[in-house]
Amino acid sequence: MYDIIALGELLIDFTPLGMTAAGRPYFEQNPGGAPANVAACLARLGKKASFIGKVGDDSFGKYLDGVLKGYGVDTTGLIFDPNGNTTLAFIHLSEQGERSFSFYRRPGADTLLTIQDIDLSRIERSRVFHFGSLSMTDNPSRMATLMAAEHARKKGIPLSFDPNLRLPLWSSPVKARDMMIVGLQLASIVKVSEEELEFITGIQDYEEGTRFIYETYGVPLIFVTLGERGCFYRIRTETGISRGYSVQSIDTTGAGDAFLGAVLLKWLDKGVEINQLSANDVAHFCDFANAVGAIVTTKMGGMSSLPDLEEIESFISRTSD
Ligand code: ATP
Repeated sequence: MYDIIALGELLIDFTPLGMTAAGRPYFEQNPGGAPANVAACLARLGKKASFIGKVGDDSFGKYLDGVLKGYGVDTTGLIFDPNGNTTLAFIHLSEQGERSFSFYRRPGADTLLTIQDIDLSRIERSRVFHFGSLSMTDNPSRMATLMAAEHARKKGIPLSFDPNLRLPLWSSPVKARDMMIVGLQLASIVKVSEEELEFITGIQDYEEGTRFIYETYGVPLIFVTLGERGCFYRIRTETGISRGYSVQSIDTTGAGDAFLGAVLLKWLDKGVEINQLSANDVAHFCDFANAVGAIVTTKMGGMSSLPDLEEIESFISRTSD
């Protein structure tokens, strides 16, 4: 039995480290991919995590497999495909610290995942199925993602969904929004950024935007991540804000994935169905998850910045003094 099975992209993030003496930027190779980050986060925090996806049959793919195994993630469902390269994402930071991405993914091996590649019985042996929107940008991985997610839903496995907005990866913004909505219709737990909430609903206000998602798509548990301000949450009709932690943030890559991993950990530990959670439970999850997200922003890289439980506990006790 797995606590979580995550399906989607596993890729290399090239994180900018600075300038050479000759004034040329240089980048560090970091493991990344939102669903893989969530699986790694849970494994780091002691849960049984498994990953389904595709990388190229190349040295980047082998490196990523090794990294996930190093975190304790089961990679039986990770396939090396000789017909595609492992996707590379170069991250650029503006002077204001805003991130933008250049993706090298034509075709990225992650988009070549087919339904035949997936052992559906492993999904049935998981307490939660996690997926994102980026495995739905292209076929065959779009069909594979949807069929796996629908299978989980049919078997009564709760679904967690992250509608990541990376517009250059989609054929059009309309397609991106349509696929995000399909994901929302299947999911019970959703994490969105402010920008994603507005993109999906056309509503800026968190209260109204999340109400729309709850009432229209039936998602009972929704988190809106607010960077240094923490997060907004909705559990059915109840909502709240959980304030963030003040840290010296240097790179926000993967903070949202770590936040979601931390929420899932707390929910799995609670051991109740989503419809039995109270607003108070969710507020506690958020406080813990804000700490995990904040810690990740204090280091370069996403997956490589994931803290263990000891580091989180020491961070929380230091900051609540
Ligand atoms: P991603 O781009 O990885 O999907 P996201 O936009 O969903 O991320 P963020 O809002 O950047 O996520 O961060 C997730 C969480 O991490 C926040 O809700 C907050 O708890 C924490 N966090 C992010 N940035 C900071 C910061 N500068 N200071 C303190 N905490 C932060």
